[in-house]
Amino acid sequence: MKNILKTLTELQDVDTQLAEIEAHKGNLPQQVQNLEAAGAEVQGRLEAAQAKVEADKKELKTLGSSKDEYKTKLAKYQDQLYLVTTNREYDALTNEIENVKSHIQEIVDQQGILTDEVEQLEEEIDALTNRQTELKENLATSRKELTSKTDLTNARQKELETQREELADKLSKRYLRKYERILQVRGQAVVPVKRRACGGCHKQISDQLLFEIKQGNRFIECEGCGRILVYPDSEDDK
Ligand SMILES: [Zn+2]
Repeated sequence: MKNILKTLTELQDVDTQLAEIEAHKGNLPQQVQNLEAAGAEVQGRLEAAQAKVEADKKELKTLGSSKDEYKTKLAKYQDQLYLVTTNREYDALTNEIENVKSHIQEIVDQQGILTDEVEQLEEEIDALTNRQTELKENLATSRKELTSKTDLTNARQKELETQREELADKLSKRYLRKYERILQVRGQAVVPVKRRACGGCHKQISDQLLFEIKQGNRFIECEGCGRILVYPDSEDDK
């Protein structure tokens, strides 16, 4: 019986480690996913800023040629001023000139706004490009880490699974089934006594029962939770 309890304790230890590996597995790809999402967000902002800069530059070009046209017109009107013969013609022409001048001013103002915007966007593009480079580097590192971690975890998992098979082989079907049934329901099937109580549900244990558990000659299940009770190895836990 002592051997059975020892094997069950070892089996529990292996199963606990396997459960921990399983629990950790889910977290591993999370950081890679987060970096990928951050990278996609930066990429989106970068593309939007680049598109806006391009549109602004195109607009500036259009404004430039429009301004040239008005300037040509202005020069032509100013030349014509010398040729007018009546006051009416003079007034009409000066009106036109003022009109063209105000168009040119509007264009100059608009050019100023757009030039500032382009400058700001180009700064933003620089910052975003740096951020993206950084994220790409982090992503590459994390992916690498993830791969080696996963490899390591898989190797450990395989090792534990082999150990588990070996231990399970040592047990009779009756005990193994019992163990697995409790494991399924309770998450942990074998628990050490802790401060004279069940290590799983903390139910107090009588002196008589404690003595029997210590002897280890009998299969003892906790009256509270049904887990298999064993005497702890370490002195501190008693
Ligand atoms: Zn219990």
